[in-house]
Amino acid sequence: MGPMRPMGPMRPMKTTVALPCPKRPLDASQISLTKNQIVRLSKGILKYLCIALENNRKEMKSILEGRPALKAEIEKIAEVAGYLWQNGWAERNGGNITVNITEYADDELRQLPAISDVKQIGITLPALKGCYFYCKGTGKRMRDLARWPMQNGSVIRILDDCASYVIIADEAVMPTSELPSHLIVHAKQIEKGTGYKATVHTHPIELVAMSHNREFLGKDVLTRILWSMIPETKAFCPLGLGIVPYTLPGSNELAEATLKELEDYDVVMWEKHGVFAKGTDVMDAFDQIDVLSKSAKIYIDARCMGFEPEGMSDEQMAEMTRAFNLPR
Ligand SMILES: [Zn+2]
Repeated sequence: MGPMRPMGPMRPMKTTVALPCPKRPLDASQISLTKNQIVRLSKGILKYLCIALENNRKEMKSILEGRPALKAEIEKIAEVAGYLWQNGWAERNGGNITVNITEYADDELRQLPAISDVKQIGITLPALKGCYFYCKGTGKRMRDLARWPMQNGSVIRILDDCASYVIIADEAVMPTSELPSHLIVHAKQIEKGTGYKATVHTHPIELVAMSHNREFLGKDVLTRILWSMIPETKAFCPLGLGIVPYTLPGSNELAEATLKELEDYDVVMWEKHGVFAKGTDVMDAFDQIDVLSKSAKIYIDARCMGFEPEGMSDEQMAEMTRAFNLPR
């Protein structure tokens, strides 16, 4: 077997390189490659590896395959993400969604190998032992999540030390930087057995606008106004709207104040920022924000028409409480 036949002039798009006949043993001393050939050979191998990796990625099946209940839950998250974007509440990568999906974690899913290294939560949360969460990815956009939830968020497994987690599916998308504060809320729900599984943070325009008026920020002042705009708001957001004074986004203070307000409310307003809601599922959390937002729009429309809206009377609201057996 002689040396490789010389190759023609370089053609930039072609990466095949003629190799010695594979049927005979390879004698390395008989191979002589020009510098150009070595470069082209290396490029060919690299390109082959890239294609193989890409094919492997495409063939990797999603954990949603064969799990219709989990798939339906993730589709609900995507649907809500679309609403947040369409409402103008989720500019750029604004907002967050995390959902406790532990009830869908079958034995096979629990055996899935990690696709990330072990990440620290930064706090130990014993209530979360063995839990699984879907989390929006850090820096990801709601409008993208609406179409591709498993490429813009990931499923994490809380490890047995309850202080760390790994990503298990579908792609190694790093969870939101707000993960610790969301997990603290989820842990609290498990400890108290509330049955709440979802948290949503978003920037509803009218509600945030109202939080710029100090007169509205007293306890239950905004709740009273919003409830009185339309009966359904009191019926479908029966705990009202808690208020958290302005605090640096992502700070421990914000997380602690939110946790405290969530003891009494399902939705809390972060002054001059947005709302944080908990719900039995992601749709429930969204609906509560949506009815509050509807009331805020009615209030603002009335003010735009030049008058202070009258609102339902205390007696009319008390009648609602009795008729629908509301908690407040
Ligand atoms: Zn925000």
